[in-house]
Amino acid sequence: LSRQLHRTTLLVDLTALRHNFRTYANGLPDDCRIIVMAKASAYGSGALPVARTLEDIGAHSLAVAYPEEGRELRTGGITLPIMVLNAEAYSFPLLAQYDLQPVIHRAEQLRWAANFGLSVHLELDTGMGRLGFQPEEFRNLLRTEGGLVGAPLASIFTHLAASDDPALDDFTRQQLATFDRLYEEYLACGGAPVPRHALNSNGISRFPRAAYDRVRLGIGLYGLGDDGLRMQLQPALTLTTTVTAVSTRPAGQTIGYGRRGRVDQEKSVAVISIGYADGLPRLAGEGRYAVRINNQLAPTIGSICMDMCTVDVTGIAGVTVGTDVVVFSPDHPIELLAAAAQTIPYEILTSIGPRVHRIYV
Ligand code: PLP
Repeated sequence: LSRQLHRTTLLVDLTALRHNFRTYANGLPDDCRIIVMAKASAYGSGALPVARTLEDIGAHSLAVAYPEEGRELRTGGITLPIMVLNAEAYSFPLLAQYDLQPVIHRAEQLRWAANFGLSVHLELDTGMGRLGFQPEEFRNLLRTEGGLVGAPLASIFTHLAASDDPALDDFTRQQLATFDRLYEEYLACGGAPVPRHALNSNGISRFPRAAYDRVRLGIGLYGLGDDGLRMQLQPALTLTTTVTAVSTRPAGQTIGYGRRGRVDQEKSVAVISIGYADGLPRLAGEGRYAVRINNQLAPTIGSICMDMCTVDVTGIAGVTVGTDVVVFSPDHPIELLAAAAQTIPYEILTSIGPRVHRIYV
C-alpha cells in the first residue's frame, strides 16, 4: 500500500488495539471500567478512528487534554463520556456545548462548572507535583461550607508519578495511601461515594489492587511501554516510508547538511521520504538509528532533513525508487528509535506529523 501511495504512513492495527484493550480489561475486577486516554490525537494514532474502535468494544469513557480535542470527538459522532484534563475559564461554554466533563484542580473551576451545570472529575495531587488539589487544599475545600457542592462529581482521581519504576514503588504506595486517606476524609465529611481512579498503563499491570472503579489506559493500548504485560500485548503501530532515490557515492564524498555524512569507502545511499517534520527526530541521524529495508538494517548517514533523510544501503539487494522502508514496526521496535533519540515512545508517537497518512487495518 505504501508503495502505491509513495508516502509516509502510520499503520494502526485496530485488531491489536482491541486485543490490548481486552487484555487489560480481562485483568481488572468486573466492576472496574477503562477510561481510554485519547489525548494528543490518541497518541498520534488518530483520535476518531481509535475512539470509535474503543467505543464499540466497551470503553467506559475517553480523556483528552483540551476541550478542542473533545469537540473533535463529539463532532465525529462519539457519544461516550469525555473527560477534559485542562479546563480553563474560556473553555466552559465549549465544554457545556459539547457535553464534556472538566477535570477540576482549583476551587474556581468548581464554580465555573456549577454555573454551566457540568459534572466534574476532581483531581488530587498525591505526589505527581503537577495538577490537582494538594491534600491540605482538598481538606480546606471539604471544610469550607458548600466547598464541593454545586457541580456533581463524576469521579475523584489521582495520577501516579512513577508507576513504571520499581525503585520508586514505596513512593507509589505512599501516593495510593494518601489517595485512600483523602477519600475516607471526603466520605467522613458527608461526600457521596463516587468512582475513583489512579492507574495508568503501568499502574494497571503493577498495582492491580489499586484499580478502584476505573483505570486510565494510554500507551499500553498500543502494545507499548508496559513491561509488565509486554508478552501479552500486541504492538499496534508501524511507521513506513519509501525510497525516493538511490545512488552510489565514491569514497571522499559527503552527504547532506554540514557535510556531516562521511563516505569513507564507496557506498550506496538511499534517500527516504521521512524527515523531522514527519516526526523522525534529528537525533536519529548520523548513524544513530537504522531503518529496515528489505529486512536489513540501513543506518542513517548525515543529518535528518525536514522532509527526507539519507540511509546507507550498501550491500542491501534490490533497493530502488519505491522500495518500502520500515521506520518502526512490531518487529523493529519503536523503543530503538526512542533510545537513539534520547526520548520515550510517547514523544515519538505524538510527534508524528500531520502529513503522515494514518491507515487503519
Ligand atoms: N492519566 C493521566 C492523567 C495522564 O496524563 C496519562 C498520560 O499521560 C495517563 C493517564 C495515561 O498514561 P499511560 O499512557 O502511561 O498509560
